[in-house]
Amino acid sequence: MALADHPRIPLTFGPSPLHPLDRLTAHLGGARIWAKREDCNSGLAFGGNKVRKLEYLAAEAVATGCDTLVSIGGVQSNHTRSVAAVAAYLGLKCVLVQESWVDWPDSVYDKVGNVQLSRLLGATSRFVEAGFGIGIKESYQQVLTEVDLSGGKPYPIPAGASDHPLGGLGFARWAAELLEQERAAGVRFDTVVVASGTGSTQAGMVAGFAALGERRRVIGVDITAKPVETLAAVQRIAHRTAALLDTEITDEVILDERYHAGTYGIPDEETLSAMRLAARTEALITDPVYEGKSMAALIDLVGTGEIPRTDTVLFAHLGGQPAINGYSAVV
Ligand code: PLP
Repeated sequence: MALADHPRIPLTFGPSPLHPLDRLTAHLGGARIWAKREDCNSGLAFGGNKVRKLEYLAAEAVATGCDTLVSIGGVQSNHTRSVAAVAAYLGLKCVLVQESWVDWPDSVYDKVGNVQLSRLLGATSRFVEAGFGIGIKESYQQVLTEVDLSGGKPYPIPAGASDHPLGGLGFARWAAELLEQERAAGVRFDTVVVASGTGSTQAGMVAGFAALGERRRVIGVDITAKPVETLAAVQRIAHRTAALLDTEITDEVILDERYHAGTYGIPDEETLSAMRLAARTEALITDPVYEGKSMAALIDLVGTGEIPRTDTVLFAHLGGQPAINGYSAVV
């Protein structure tokens, strides 16, 4: 089935902004760097990559008469905040399981940022003790059963909207959108650098480029510190999404595991200095969990020439700024 035939509810402003990062490029003195900005892709609660993915899941939720979106993520999950936003926008209820993925000492970590926004958006958050992982959790199953028993109709959305049959479609569409923007701007990206966590962002891009017959190097940057699981997730979701689009993945899936800083949700000095450099050259705000790490990768890969000077490289900015409020001790 063609991508355009998959039902979708538009939740973004349209194509996300694409622009060059001239001062960062000059500072690094290597490949030409641009950014495509999912952090300002939508008017729904600061947008981000999940809003794009949810365009397809929301269409199914509405078409099947569900009245409650149920999802799961860490306390500072951008994903659960986006589910809360989409639920509010569509007039649905929302219950979120918030797991303690990150052991971070900031006293306001579990009160500000994403979790605060989800509350403001009207979602119910249930806090549970559990580590990072994208598997199906008992707490999540329990919420689904409770919504069911109380007469509601839940629509289950796994962590990051990734391990879901429709999870990769949003970023397959991103790939098609990028090609149109390239034509309009007269530019072609040899390499895309993207943070990878639950996997469907990178997987969707890979499947989307395959469906378009475009060979691009998509470098996923593992931010989970569990790269074996991340790579397996990206491969699985890429193949599943490709099958939905009647195509196949033939190129190797690339996941760089040098920049996760050792622990999910904890930045190291390289992460923090990348965040500062992006902020001080481009006023580009990145977070310590995701984009700070993919920015650290981009800076290193361009600075060392591992991405050749002749390349034009795209930084896929996926959002995540609200979590920064929980990191005042280091940022
Ligand atoms: N960047 C941000 C800001 C995110 O919220 C996420 C979500 O996990 C990612 C990157 C990684 O995307 P994915 O989970 O689709 O791999």
